[in-house]
Amino acid sequence: MSARPQKNPRRALLGVGVAAAAGLALAPGVRLIELARARAAGESASSQVRWGMLIDANRCAAGCSACVDACARENSLDSPIDLRQRPQWIRKVELKQIGTGRTAAAPVMCQHCAEPPCVDVCPTGASFKRADGIVLVDRHTCIGCRYCMMACPYKARSFVHETLTQQKPEVPRGKGCVEGCTLCVHRIDRGQGPACVQACAESENGAMVFGDLNDPASEIAQRLRAQASAALRADLGLEPAVRYQGV
Ligand code: SF4
Ligand code: SF4
Repeated sequence: MSARPQKNPRRALLGVGVAAAAGLALAPGVRLIELARARAAGESASSQVRWGMLIDANRCAAGCSACVDACARENSLDSPIDLRQRPQWIRKVELKQIGTGRTAAAPVMCQHCAEPPCVDVCPTGASFKRADGIVLVDRHTCIGCRYCMMACPYKARSFVHETLTQQKPEVPRGKGCVEGCTLCVHRIDRGQGPACVQACAESENGAMVFGDLNDPASEIAQRLRAQASAALRADLGLEPAVRYQGV
């Protein structure tokens, strides 16, 4: 994981809660995944790119957990002995539209905010945002204070209480550290997309699209231009990189 923090000290701690808005239809996001440019080892993330995700709740099947299971497999989240304690970097959540009361089920993970309060409150710089917008935790400098967990309004981070086994070298985790969705940064850096998006496409629901929000020709940018979408808790002004339709 490369690049370094972009700290923004101007914001304070935020409260808790997730809600939504907006609606539309979409399809698999595989083509964009294939087109994500692989980065050479040691090459810094580019600020020309902003990786993001579009999730269509109309296509997300209520009982489907393909994305959640794929995330666990990809990141070895099953390594704690007791599976009931398996962390969920992505989780299925019932979203409720304020005003209409309409509900929908959709996956929620770290929203990779452009203005991330988790980064602002971190006393060590362990929470940081890459130039391409991916928000990460450096487990070597994380002291486990959990300020970032309190600051995140999406409840997107969790604390590792137990000693971990069977970890993947490319997905470093550690007891006593906070962790969360990395957007599968290790896959992105070799030109692939997140494992959850691939699993959703393979499930034939095709509710998730991944791509470069800054590239007007990308599938995700075209869909966002063509159809209404919403950010969760847009009122907080954190500018998430994850957008939703159909909620
Ligand atoms: Fe930080 Fe939470 Fe935003 Fe992720 S969703 S960038 S953990 S504030
Ligand atoms: Fe930073 Fe780690 Fe504290 Fe979170 S738990 S605020 S990443 S030092």
